[in-house]
Amino acid sequence: DLENPRLKEPAKSNKKRIAVMTSGGDAPGMCAAVRAVVRAGIYLGCEVYGCYEGYSGLVKGGEYLKKMDWEDVRGWLSLGGTLIGTARCMEFKEKWGRLQAAKNMILRGVDALIVCGGDGSLTGADIFRDEWPSLVAELVKNGTFTEDQVEPYKHLTIVGLVGSIDNDMSSTDNTIGAYSSLERICEMVDYIDATAASHSRAFVVEVMGRHCGWLALMAGTACGADSIFIPERPPNSKSWKDELKEVCLRHRSKGRRKTTVIVAEGALDNELNPITSEQVKECLVEIGLDTRITTLGHVQRGGTAVAFDRLLATLQGVDAVKAVLESTPNTPSPMIGFVDNKVVRRPLIESVKLTKSVATAIEEKRFDDAMQLRDTTFKEAYDHFLSVSKYDDGTQVLPENQHLNVAIIHVGAPTSALNAATRAAALYLLSRGHTPIGVENGFTGLTRHGAMRKLSWLDVEEWHNLGGSELGTNRSLPSTDIGTVAYYFQRFEIQGLIIIGGFEAFHSLHELKQARSLYPIFNMPMVCLPSTVSNNVPGSEYSLGSDTCLNVLVNYCDAIKQSASASRRRVFVVEVQGGYSGFIASYTGLVTGSLAVYTPEEKITLRSIQEDLELLNKTFENDTGLNRSGKMFIRNEKSSKIYTTDLLTSIIRESAHGKYESRTAVPGHVQQGKTPTAMDRCHSARFAIKACEFIEKSNFETNEKLQAMLNNGFGSNLTYKGHTEPDLKFVYRRGKKQLVGDLDNAKLLGIHGSSVVFKDIDEVWDNETDVELRKGKDIHWDDMNMVNDMLSGRLMLRSER
Ligand code: ATP
Repeated sequence: DLENPRLKEPAKSNKKRIAVMTSGGDAPGMCAAVRAVVRAGIYLGCEVYGCYEGYSGLVKGGEYLKKMDWEDVRGWLSLGGTLIGTARCMEFKEKWGRLQAAKNMILRGVDALIVCGGDGSLTGADIFRDEWPSLVAELVKNGTFTEDQVEPYKHLTIVGLVGSIDNDMSSTDNTIGAYSSLERICEMVDYIDATAASHSRAFVVEVMGRHCGWLALMAGTACGADSIFIPERPPNSKSWKDELKEVCLRHRSKGRRKTTVIVAEGALDNELNPITSEQVKECLVEIGLDTRITTLGHVQRGGTAVAFDRLLATLQGVDAVKAVLESTPNTPSPMIGFVDNKVVRRPLIESVKLTKSVATAIEEKRFDDAMQLRDTTFKEAYDHFLSVSKYDDGTQVLPENQHLNVAIIHVGAPTSALNAATRAAALYLLSRGHTPIGVENGFTGLTRHGAMRKLSWLDVEEWHNLGGSELGTNRSLPSTDIGTVAYYFQRFEIQGLIIIGGFEAFHSLHELKQARSLYPIFNMPMVCLPSTVSNNVPGSEYSLGSDTCLNVLVNYCDAIKQSASASRRRVFVVEVQGGYSGFIASYTGLVTGSLAVYTPEEKITLRSIQEDLELLNKTFENDTGLNRSGKMFIRNEKSSKIYTTDLLTSIIRESAHGKYESRTAVPGHVQQGKTPTAMDRCHSARFAIKACEFIEKSNFETNEKLQAMLNNGFGSNLTYKGHTEPDLKFVYRRGKKQLVGDLDNAKLLGIHGSSVVFKDIDEVWDNETDVELRKGKDIHWDDMNMVNDMLSGRLMLRSER
């Protein structure tokens, strides 16, 4: 198949031929990206070629450019590294190498290239596209091809996918592989933590990131590190050692038994001198700590991709093919990015330039610019890290009259993120001089026993990686005994409330707000922080704990598929949680390669089952030799009253006529997870701190209003910034009339991509909630079903019918 039919008769085949390659350092999720490109390409009528060994494959040509079929990429979602190989190819940096590459592409009839790699690989791709017309002209001039033969190849289409564990590319919030790498780091640091605490040791952990501190920063937050060193925010060259010693000694004096410092491999001081793990170790040894260095090295690249990277790679791979088909000679080469939870296209070369400008900013000691040039949340994440690590030094404490008592309560089924969120909230509150108060065992704990306790630094500092709920949680609502709830809040002088949990937490906040006219104490600022594995809290696209659930399901389904594949003739129907929300099912189906997904949003019919049985038979027919896939369906627990998991399994068995068998698999409560994922830990810190900031700000504004009223003669019929006195609510505390808040301060913390929006609880309840089905009205994950149907073959089968 070396021959390109178009070289002989240009009109004969006008199918787009796309080559896909992985280049630079490997990253988990690259295989998923290649799978998506191959299958989406075939579905959309293209031929797809795998370019093996990065740019070397283009330069060598021949067997290195191999046509890929639908079946060639089966099972690739769950594999780490890249199965088409990657390399650093020096020849491609030379003009002669690129000329050779152009020749090989034309020989194969390839006119589009999708490159998955870091900024180096994407720069190479853009140079190649710019040079393409001159390379083609040279190939005609030196007699390799005739003018007619190269006529269809006047233009080369390039599309970039960012595969890099460093998360260092500008114009995208996430790169393929970064969260998987972060997950590996956190797993390793958790292991190290256990031994560090046992021996009361200090560990210096060196992580990857020559020019980018994202991995070190996120790992610092997720692993409860004492300190971190990153290239974008270098410490003072004269004082960093003393500052490091101070923070570690302070934490030790508070009772911490271990010390963890995370150092990015490219860490610098503000004079651009490298900060090495060895230097950090020396400091810790000087303060008497038994210190070890662990350089994590290549384990950070290893292993299967986490759920999020599989999603990112899959959605972006499909969009890369669409971008090829929509490209014109005048459109700049796009880079497929991910901003605010949406796949976006950005001009590739601009993004690469912006990325390189971070390194330049660091070289020129413009460190503030370097921080700003990273993705939108980088600077905020750094501030949040300081809030939960360094700021117990007292520098951030507010004046005493602004100190608050803030209660934190867990409501609903447990998730793995409850403790991490509570820890971050408590540490932030303590750093500001407030008092965090934990409510034990939800609203029943409160109403039956008045179970509240002040949370100290030492109480919570170890909760970053602890699943379950240290405070205790249950589904009871405040309406069970709302008067007693008000009584205890008033008795403990609570001035702010954070409710962490799922639909019941959301419902609780609505009830508390509704009860304000009877119980003025509920006029204090209150925030619901969504945390549920089902991700069914209305008004928010993400709930803390759902990522852990998805990763549990990814591992579970990978094992199930492996078993199905090994036993050759077995199909599994996996039942997942989610209540009436199909989010978890759709996401799991997409990232594990399920043949079909059954959700409450799409009605199961006899006809759809019939179609899926056809698809199943077809995939069994395509099993050849050693090339066999594990076959699996995902069914949400409430997707149909009639077609239960057992019934679906029986229908499959019955219709197989003995050719294969079927089994159910129900992971149940395992889905709540054990240890929170790195993503859940980082998001927990971010959203919990934002909830606290909202409570502070709301109290501050209310006090401002009160002050204005006092200044103007309290009690008269005054207005202030449009508020009249009746807008402000008071309680009597120890006989004294005290202001508790105003009306607009009961909020759901809604997460939309990387943005956080505080939404009025009543508005979300009235406009965005399907109360009966306990979920939001917006099906924001709808695209996942379409993409899964495309990549499982379901859409193709339907279009053939
Ligand atoms: P990582 O983030 O893992 O470092 P990367 O894509 O940045 O990935 P590089 O080693 O910089 O990794 O680039 C990978 C390959 O891309 C190079 O080996 C080379 O073949 C090609 N490449 C990089 N820069 C250029 C360039 N300026 N011109 C042509 N090709 C290039």
